[in-house]
Amino acid sequence: MTALYFFTGRAKQAEADSGHRLVMGTFARVVAIGANSKVADKTIEAGLSEIQSVDKLMSDYKSDSEISRVNKDAFTRAVAISEPTYEVLKRSIEFSKLTGGAFDITVGPLVDLWHSAKKKNSIPRDEELAAARAKVGFEKLILDDKQRTVQFAVEGMRLDLGAIAKGYAVDKAIEAMQKAGAVGGMVDIGGDLRCFGKPPKGKTKWSVGLQNPDINKNADESDLLLILKLDSAAVATSGDYQQFALIEGKRYSHIINRRTGAGAVGLSSVTIIADSATDADALATAVSVMGAEKGLALIEKMPGVEAILITSGPNYELIKTSGAEKYIK
Ligand code: ADP
Ligand code: MG
Repeated sequence: MTALYFFTGRAKQAEADSGHRLVMGTFARVVAIGANSKVADKTIEAGLSEIQSVDKLMSDYKSDSEISRVNKDAFTRAVAISEPTYEVLKRSIEFSKLTGGAFDITVGPLVDLWHSAKKKNSIPRDEELAAARAKVGFEKLILDDKQRTVQFAVEGMRLDLGAIAKGYAVDKAIEAMQKAGAVGGMVDIGGDLRCFGKPPKGKTKWSVGLQNPDINKNADESDLLLILKLDSAAVATSGDYQQFALIEGKRYSHIINRRTGAGAVGLSSVTIIADSATDADALATAVSVMGAEKGLALIEKMPGVEAILITSGPNYELIKTSGAEKYIK
């Protein structure tokens, strides 16, 4: 797992690479740079174990996860949760407020409705949409900071951390690696990633490739739309080109606009560059819902945050915030 590199004279660094690991319903990869191979290996383990513990708390695939327990019980009683999960709920509500509800972790009932629509290959009826929408809205979440509990105001609500948990896990993993002594590193969970410090040997920066959302052009994985060059930064991409539902011959994004109750439209790919992966992940989802105009206006206002958008086909127009250029190779 470890390769040791010798530089001129005393300078020496070791690089460790976890390879691709199946976690959080996708592939994760951790790369660490340490003073020696022992440190590099140790930091990889620290990063991976952090990802696993976030997954254990926040996965909705695992019926024994904390978030599954919340979804089962939080209407009948206030459910006490761990600090990390509580932190993610608080941050999620901040993002909901910042984005006028474009980002909303209470979309669960709508996600479920579109999931079954996909299975039946027929779009939901208006009454079904209305019923699901009545169970959606971050305003219906009751949090108690002192007791660290969460409660649902409406029966049938369901939290879905799919748009923020991966970013949060990336941040936690990076922190753990830094604590364990890494001088550089990168954590990538299904395309949500963050890098810091010394890049791999022979490189001056970390490189991150953005995939081309144009299905006619990305048949080959090596066909990248552009390459980002980063020192210490987080990058997250949301899009409808990999995950979508085909219903009655029409494509629906897996990202839901709670206002319409249906999939987000207008953008095929949204990439956000920010300091934290949690922010990048949540904002990429939010901008997908907000659309190019409102989304760009929001990101332009946020210091240190940039966006690279690609509109839906057939045009696939590339739009960037003013500060994004400096990261593009
Ligand atoms: P990916 O799943 O490709 O990482 P995202 O980070 O955008 O992409 O997360 C999308 C997931 O988040 C969906 O599969 C769903 O579980 C959930 N979700 C859908 N719409 C929203 C929304 N408007 N706000 C918050 N979460 C959402
Ligand atoms: Mg996201």
